[in-house]
Amino acid sequence: MTSAIAIDSPATNTSGLNWVNSFAALGPDFYTELQPTPLPAPYWVGKSRALARELGLEDHWLESADTLEALTGNRLLPGSGPLASVYSGHQFGVWAGQLGDGRALLLGEIDSPSGPQEMQLKGAGQTPYSRMGDGRAVLRSSIREFLCSEAMHGLGIPTTRALCVTGSDAPVRREEIETAAVVTRTAPSFIRFGHFEHFSYTGQHAQLKALADYVIDRFYPACREAPQPYAALLEAVSERTAHLMAAWQAVGFCHGVMNTDNMSILGLTMDYGPFQFLDAFDPGHICNHSDAQGRYAYNRQPNMAYWNLFCLGQALLPLIGEQELALAALEPYKTQFPEALYARMRGKLGLADERPEDKALVDDCFKLLAAGKTDYSIFWRRLNGFTPQSGHEPVRDLFFDRESFNAWALQYSERLAGVDAELRAGLMHRNNPKFVLRNHLGEEAIRAAKLKDFSGVDTLLALLQSPCEEHPGHDSFAGFPPDWASSIEISCSS
Ligand code: AMP
Ligand code: MG
Repeated sequence: MTSAIAIDSPATNTSGLNWVNSFAALGPDFYTELQPTPLPAPYWVGKSRALARELGLEDHWLESADTLEALTGNRLLPGSGPLASVYSGHQFGVWAGQLGDGRALLLGEIDSPSGPQEMQLKGAGQTPYSRMGDGRAVLRSSIREFLCSEAMHGLGIPTTRALCVTGSDAPVRREEIETAAVVTRTAPSFIRFGHFEHFSYTGQHAQLKALADYVIDRFYPACREAPQPYAALLEAVSERTAHLMAAWQAVGFCHGVMNTDNMSILGLTMDYGPFQFLDAFDPGHICNHSDAQGRYAYNRQPNMAYWNLFCLGQALLPLIGEQELALAALEPYKTQFPEALYARMRGKLGLADERPEDKALVDDCFKLLAAGKTDYSIFWRRLNGFTPQSGHEPVRDLFFDRESFNAWALQYSERLAGVDAELRAGLMHRNNPKFVLRNHLGEEAIRAAKLKDFSGVDTLLALLQSPCEEHPGHDSFAGFPPDWASSIEISCSS
């Protein structure tokens, strides 16, 4: 298992990847350079050819045996410079001190048609930041991260992406013995709130400034023009985070581990662990079996994001100077999140313009769904077919309490008076997905994958990459969860 890594000579490099590696230029205070630890006899588990195309990779690249070895960590891609970055963070509300890439290796950044993209291998072996961990990721959690990354992208929600998963029969000990896998993931940057916290809490203020300047120059150049660039950065991150939270809440996504080390400085969904798309609508739903207190329950996510932004503000204080400035930079979150949420919900209701009564319509809808524990995604998808004239049976059938539904349906019908039906249909089609990565769907694909049948991963990927399309013949993937779905326990173990 610890055989030497083969290094491609440039002559045999068929990938044509053009590496930039700007993060590495920050210097050794930010990371440790090291090689991945090889895994025996790797095999392909899943590939996102859509992402490969976006990255400008040639079709044959994801088919080659060399690539399989490289993306499992058994061979170096020429031009890459693997490193594990150091960060810290608050976990479940408590300062956890130094964490870091304990099982992820940044290979570097490739120049792609969609701009420079960092490429990481997750599960490629121990690093100086592994603490008690083995540096590995198991097949189960790797498939979940792969599918959900691409599903979120398919839903139009900002996220890190996943290019592929490779597996190996090498055993990995969790609650039971499982097998190893590696996810190749990409993002413009994997920098987290926790990176800033690390340099702030350890008093490395020159490095803190270098990191903030790096992020501003590459991703938030407008902040450079602001009177207080670092306060402007905090405000810009808050704004992106507000939009991300609105997107999560609207689609019924629970992240499960919103620690500050899992919060992206670019407002991307990242570090998919015990996440869940809601089945029945339960505002207090806790998807992480390890989260006994419900800190990251569905309805607490927007507040937890604000809490995390507050931590980021604290970390940036040495650069911002005055506490009042930092607090003022966070203030817009409180209005931007609800505005963004109601805008998304209007999209789900098919309302192109905003009217004063819309807030009540949305709030009443949430109340109705919560009271009925109605299936969240099925409700919205069926609502696409709702018309004020029809009996709207398919939607009404979702509710035991017909009277409450009828009252809301009347409210909605009145709002729809004068609304262009075609415009509304288009909006709803785009905003109410037919396919979301419910736990049981992922679980079925994982069970088959454990037996080396990866067709379920492929099928789900295809559905989730265009989740609003009909995909005839695949209605069973859009139905109610089976009874056993509620007994699936997903914890931090991955
Ligand atoms: P997470 O909650 O998965 O985002 O991980 C929190 C921290 O634990 C990060 O620093 C991870 O790199 C690290 N970590 C999680 N699992 C492992 C593992 N199996 N081996 C090494 N480090 C890990
Ligand atoms: Mg993490």
